[in-house]
Amino acid sequence: METFLPITYLNDFVFCPYSIYLHQVFDNNSEDLYSAKPQLQGKIAHKDIDEFDEDTEPTKETTLKGIYVISMKLGIYGKIDTYYTKEKKLVESKYQITTIYRGYYYQLWSQYFALIEMGYPIHALYFYSIRDEKYFDVPIPSEKEYNELRTHIRHIAWFDFDTFTQTNLKKCMHCIYASLCDKTQQDHVYT
Ligand code: SF4
Repeated sequence: METFLPITYLNDFVFCPYSIYLHQVFDNNSEDLYSAKPQLQGKIAHKDIDEFDEDTEPTKETTLKGIYVISMKLGIYGKIDTYYTKEKKLVESKYQITTIYRGYYYQLWSQYFALIEMGYPIHALYFYSIRDEKYFDVPIPSEKEYNELRTHIRHIAWFDFDTFTQTNLKKCMHCIYASLCDKTQQDHVYT
């Protein structure tokens, strides 16, 4: 059986590789147990996108929201936020964007390459900051970005979680797993 990485891991791994391991451990439990305030706000903001129903919102019939995509070539799968079929535009929404981290690009590039592989043409890419209603234009990724993405995915697949140590305690302070994590004594700031 083939194994595929969730696209969300690509960003989580950039924040902290160990968060992926903890996500797997707690994945089968209620998210209320470990989701902290900012993450919940983001999830609520995403709820509209995930629960979009074409039948009840006919004015949005030219958009695809929250659909699953998969790339056999890259070995990744996940959901997109919004694909505009007429404009051939792909948008990844986040609750609030103050910095565009590399992990954000990996997520969007993955969605892009998966959609292309599935036969959807894409002419424009954007990040959208929900809270302040801002769009950020993203260049269409080239072969260079594809190779960077593939290297990142392989790095995750072969990562040694046992020997990992987190030296940036600021990350732990803002990590939803801090109270459950065996790699730090740091509590997060959301309690
Ligand atoms: S608490 Fe720290 S070490 Fe543990 S997953 Fe979060 S950021 Fe990583």
